[in-house]
Amino acid sequence: MQIELNSVNKYYNRGQHNEVYALKNISFSVQEGEIVCIRGPSGSGKSTLLSIIGCLYPPTSGTAIICGRQIARLPDHFLTRHRRENIGFIFQRFNLIESLTVLENITLPLLPLGVPPAERTVRARKVMEELQIGHREKFRVNGISGGEMQRVAIGRALINNPRLLLADEPTAHLDPQLRSSFMDAMADLKKSGKTIVITSHDIQVTGHPKVDRCFTMEDGTMTAGDGI
Ligand code: ADP
Ligand code: MG
Repeated sequence: MQIELNSVNKYYNRGQHNEVYALKNISFSVQEGEIVCIRGPSGSGKSTLLSIIGCLYPPTSGTAIICGRQIARLPDHFLTRHRRENIGFIFQRFNLIESLTVLENITLPLLPLGVPPAERTVRARKVMEELQIGHREKFRVNGISGGEMQRVAIGRALINNPRLLLADEPTAHLDPQLRSSFMDAMADLKKSGKTIVITSHDIQVTGHPKVDRCFTMEDGTMTAGDGI
């Protein structure tokens, strides 16, 4: 099992006037190699759930095993390390740094891991070749197409060779063609054994034939998965 959450609760600002009970008793698991979607209206807790799975912060209570580690009991610096070593993120609007080149954007996650520059370049070139953006290596990302930006974002998420790939509403601002090419890229990664969790209410994502299961969030709770 790649992800195993048991009775996870998450409060923001607990005990204060602005307390939010964002995740309510979530139990949920994902097997290695699955593509799982989480849908639900805005404010239902999708990003919070993805942040816990992504080891950005631990749950307030409950247990969460992510890539073999019980993260609820890890001190912050171990949580950060676990995240950097095992998890790749793809964000809404991609969050690329426009003033940096394609190569520099892709290698960013390797900086805190202390990978030497020459090795960073070698690894990035391999990823760029797989994603067919090698010819844009030295371009700044504000000078490339939307499809190329998408591949840079995927490349940056893959550069640490993560077991788990997380995408938070990755297609929300894309045209239909890029949405479907995003899911085709995810399907390829599934073939290579990655586990993928995507939050989305885009039917082109949640209805893609390679999605194994879909869960629905509503007001901090999760309803049973459908699909297989
Ligand atoms: P979704 O991604 O489904 O839109 P979120 O996980 O972002 O939902 O938010 C779930 C709830 O938690 C919402 O009520 C939101 O306002 C609240 N929330 C999210 N992040 C924070 C935060 N950093 N501090 C306080 N409340 C937050
Ligand atoms: Mg969100």
